[in-house]
Amino acid sequence: MQQSRGESSANAKTEPSPASAENGVSRVFVLDKRGKPLMPCHPARARKLLAKDRARVHQQFPFTIRLIDRIREESDVQAVHVKIDPGANTTGMAVVRVEQNVKANHILHLSELTHRGYAVRKKMGQRANYRRRRRSNNLWYRKPRFDNRTRPKGWLPPSLRSRVDNVTSWVKKYQKICPVSGIVLERVRFDIQKLQNPEISGVEYQQGTLFGYEVREYLLERYGRKCVYCDGLSKDPVLEIEHFVPKNPAKGPNGTDRIKNLVIGCRTCNQAKNNYQPEQWAQVLGKSRKKIDKTRLCNVNRLFEGKRPSLAATAAVNATRNAIFFELRQLASVECSTGGRTKYNRCRFNIPKTHCLDAACTGKTNAISGWKQSVLLIKAMGRGSYQRTRVNAAGFPRGYLMRKKAVHGFVTGDIVKAEVSKGKKQGTYIGRVAVRKTGSFNIQTKIETVQGISWRYCQIISRQNGYNLAIQNSSPT
Ligand SMILES: [Zn+2]
Repeated sequence: MQQSRGESSANAKTEPSPASAENGVSRVFVLDKRGKPLMPCHPARARKLLAKDRARVHQQFPFTIRLIDRIREESDVQAVHVKIDPGANTTGMAVVRVEQNVKANHILHLSELTHRGYAVRKKMGQRANYRRRRRSNNLWYRKPRFDNRTRPKGWLPPSLRSRVDNVTSWVKKYQKICPVSGIVLERVRFDIQKLQNPEISGVEYQQGTLFGYEVREYLLERYGRKCVYCDGLSKDPVLEIEHFVPKNPAKGPNGTDRIKNLVIGCRTCNQAKNNYQPEQWAQVLGKSRKKIDKTRLCNVNRLFEGKRPSLAATAAVNATRNAIFFELRQLASVECSTGGRTKYNRCRFNIPKTHCLDAACTGKTNAISGWKQSVLLIKAMGRGSYQRTRVNAAGFPRGYLMRKKAVHGFVTGDIVKAEVSKGKKQGTYIGRVAVRKTGSFNIQTKIETVQGISWRYCQIISRQNGYNLAIQNSSPT
């Protein structure tokens, strides 16, 4: 069964024109006899090794085989980097082989990790409310808690902590199955130091191309990706970099290219503003009775007073990114990059925007190949509930869970295969299992949820590890 799975996935991934630079194949991870990682191989090769009985299937997701007759030597491995683009909801990851002499990257594996930060936050809020009710209601006497706890250094709220832990745990997983020599991390959206003095380093900066991307990224982030004048009222999707004090005004002083003078405006507003000085435009707007012009006037006045929106909204994201950096630094050498550079690479190599391909575009590189391939979708699910009491909406006990999570060696979230040989449920089912104390389980297959399957028919495919995994095949285009 295991061999046939490898075969079918390899067939699905084989593209008609393998020679082209964009087409790639998601590689199979390989371990040596002693469990040390070797270079990932093509699925066709893995299939042959399995057929010749030279290898065993080590794990299903990400598909890994173990050679039974080979011990790793130093010359066996090349440089492999894990590239990461952390996001609030989804983090993109790419495992690439690095051609050191030409600084080119070939993509071996792509994955997208969906976090459960909002779910964590919601659950914590619920728990706090139940506890509050237990204290305030006339139940057994419980002393109020007071603020006698200090937070350790580097503390993050659980919702952010879960994002950081998700990323580090996956980097560790990749280190176990692949000879990772370095990590490339998109640490910040834009590089504020380089914005202030673009001369510091690099040809790309001096030529101004990369600098332009950094400026744009900074402004979009700063002004919340919407027009500063109309707050998006004009419904114009085109956003442009705008000189607040115009560069060639009809009268008054000339505006500069300095970051202080740049804002984000939609094309409609840009054209309406024309080459007016801000004060002049405010006068024009003051005469109009349109709703949009009232908003514009209000915003122009605020900008004129030097009031700009704060970057508080992005602070949470930055806190996570920094925490991720400090934790990954303990695992391998980390190269930091910016969102501006990611976008610059993406435009240069003409690569579409997805989370995992953004990760592949992170960092300094001269070429990226093999980006058209299947993606491993990882969803953080948690490991079930710690509380053994289920409560209703008002926080009253509704029922109790088992003391132990395992039933006959199975845990909710395991991927199992059940071959039912007789009765109404006859057939083969593969999917996520939900255990019941009675030993009669539910299996969630790709199509349906099958109820009442006895544990005796079930066979473990992979153990629950807090993540749901699936493979998304590359689009046929
Ligand atoms: Zn506008």
